[in-house]
Amino acid sequence: MNEQTVSALIHRIKSNITQPLRLMEVCGTHTTAIGRCGIRSLLTPELELVSGPGCPVCVTSQYDLDQMIMLSRQPGVTIATFGDMLRVPGSETTLELEKAAGADVRAVYSPFEAVKMAQQEQDRQFVFLGVGFETTAPAIAMSVELARQYGLDNYSVFSCVKTMPAALHALLGGGKSSLHGLILPGHVSAVIGRKAQDFVASHYHLPAAVTGFELTDILTAVLALVEMATKDEAAVVNCYPSVVREEGNPQARALIEKVFAPSDANWRGLGLIEQSGLSLRRELTQFDARLRFPVTPQDTPENSACRCANVLLGEITPPDCALFGSKCNPLSPEGPCMVSSEGACAAYFRYERKKAVTL
Ligand code: SF4
Repeated sequence: MNEQTVSALIHRIKSNITQPLRLMEVCGTHTTAIGRCGIRSLLTPELELVSGPGCPVCVTSQYDLDQMIMLSRQPGVTIATFGDMLRVPGSETTLELEKAAGADVRAVYSPFEAVKMAQQEQDRQFVFLGVGFETTAPAIAMSVELARQYGLDNYSVFSCVKTMPAALHALLGGGKSSLHGLILPGHVSAVIGRKAQDFVASHYHLPAAVTGFELTDILTAVLALVEMATKDEAAVVNCYPSVVREEGNPQARALIEKVFAPSDANWRGLGLIEQSGLSLRRELTQFDARLRFPVTPQDTPENSACRCANVLLGEITPPDCALFGSKCNPLSPEGPCMVSSEGACAAYFRYERKKAVTL
């Protein structure tokens, strides 16, 4: 990190602010980086940075979680999932508690591990919980391709993959957004491309900046947004050109399209958004865990004391939740935003708790 560059960026941001501005970092990895680098404390209070719906674990609906938990109770079924999912509360229990009660739930780092397990233990059914955005979708798609090539009939995916542009439309579409700009996710943009997000400026007249996860990346994006917002200009700029191209990654997109088709999806905070999810294509139904193991949990209301939905919409910051840091903490999380490594509540708890507690 070049200290001179950082100081110069901070100076330019501060000197360009002529009115209070509210910017949303859509991506959970940005939320964590902002907390880790102490970016809020480097800037001025007139510049508010709020989190958005960009943590895939956090936006997974309680109903989907309850389905995953019911799946883990099916005889002969092994659940393979990213570690973060284990501790996310469903309406009554978690995958971790189900594991303690005897369910076969295994944490994996990639879907390929799950395919390998399925190859090695053909007497069990392996279900990979496909939670993610366009960034994770290619690896999940490839795992299905591999399972098909290997002729495995004991591997399937419970797809909760969601697509980011649909969430942005839902977020901005109501016309009630109080945002002055969006920091767009670098990883998702590497797959879908900068151009795919032009609608943020052309349709909603909102400045947006695609960027990476280093301090200077984020400050560069903030500066671009502040400059545009103060001039009432709107464009989607690419502050991460070493990774993000106009058209994204055509190979990754082709792989996604080969395996998945758009479908309606339920988002925590945003509700049901048409065509905002990715389901396995009809010709791959044997790998679709939702069809292979249909389970219908009760539709139980979410814990009303947990305000993850408001956090994900940028309506409040985590310390505004009455449970933050007291009843809800990383050892005893009440909602997904405190569990996930990309969750806003977890990031605030880890990096900005002192400030939060004094608020
Ligand atoms: S602090 Fe806990 S209960 Fe409150 S919104 Fe965050 S995760 Fe939910």
